[in-house]
Amino acid sequence: MKVCPICHQTYADNDQNFCLNDGGTLTRLTDDAPPTIFMEPPRITNQTNWENSEPISPWQNHPNLQNPSFASPMRVQGKDQTLPTVSLVLGILSFVLICCYGGIPFGIGALVTGYLGLNNFNHNPMQYGGKGLAIAGLILGAISVLGSVIFILFAILGSLK
Ligand SMILES: [Zn+2]
Repeated sequence: MKVCPICHQTYADNDQNFCLNDGGTLTRLTDDAPPTIFMEPPRITNQTNWENSEPISPWQNHPNLQNPSFASPMRVQGKDQTLPTVSLVLGILSFVLICCYGGIPFGIGALVTGYLGLNNFNHNPMQYGGKGLAIAGLILGAISVLGSVIFILFAILGSLK
């Protein structure tokens, strides 16, 4: 239903655009308005509810759930401990082999790999681990090299006598 804003004549035909009395542009009567008014509030509240709660909470939950699950295995399992492990093994070998002149080559190997392992850890702690292993390898390597040098010096001194 439409109504003329000038003479307030109503027209049942919604396809009618102009008043037959004065040619005024017809406007839709309030009969058509209640459905749109009743329809809109639920739409608005539904939209605001979805925008405020549902789309945000999954967005917030996903990063919180995914980031630790992605990062924690990477941090625990993905760290490269090859050099520190090699350093520790070489350090133990060199320490055992001090008496047999193995302390210097193995000790130097332990020092080099331990130093490189520590260097990797300091530059990229997220990717490299085994700091304790590298330090242990460095200490064992240093003791073995020093011990071997002292052992060789004593051997030389002994042979001089
Ligand atoms: Zn009219």
